[in-house]
Amino acid sequence: MGFVPEEIEKALREIQKIPGYGERGASRFFYSLLKLPQKDKVEIIKTLAEAVKKLRPCEECGIYTTKRICDICSSPERSKKLITVVEESSDAYTIERLGKYKGVYHVLGGHIAPLEGIAPEDLNIDKLLERVERYQPVEVILATNPNTEGEATASYLAKVLKKRFPNLRITRIGFGAAFGTYLELLEDFSLGEAFENRKEFP
Ligand SMILES: [Zn+2]
Repeated sequence: MGFVPEEIEKALREIQKIPGYGERGASRFFYSLLKLPQKDKVEIIKTLAEAVKKLRPCEECGIYTTKRICDICSSPERSKKLITVVEESSDAYTIERLGKYKGVYHVLGGHIAPLEGIAPEDLNIDKLLERVERYQPVEVILATNPNTEGEATASYLAKVLKKRFPNLRITRIGFGAAFGTYLELLEDFSLGEAFENRKEFP
């Protein structure tokens, strides 16, 4: 009922539906967008609209893809004997950037965080167990984020996996000094090292 255009108020409310975007974040995003030349902002919105319409989680691993089964899962060059577990689709694509990994992924869709009300049941864990059962991998690499929640999630998964598959090799990528951050923020070199320095869960 004030002097602020309804279009602005509505846009800001919509953007705030994205987790992590509060009033300030939404405001920053929207006003920065508005400042761009007309053809650029229209192009950005058009690209986003097409992307969100086409992208959906791979029915097998959970990675965002435009197909029912993603290119990684359906590639004969990728081994299902090696499964890397990540929190988000973006983490898997960060690892892909290195171009070295030859296995497949499994996206959890987050991490265990009791304070945020995220329990193991909220993550894509049943599907992981089902895939391990089906593919009988030689190794499952836990590549959740190098921070407290990521570590807790990895420990939980290791426990559950060990109990059900006693002979499975379960490893955690070694972050060393890089602890306390997010996988996608690591430099390629550090991420490559983290993979090479992975250690077996006791
Ligand atoms: Zn997939």
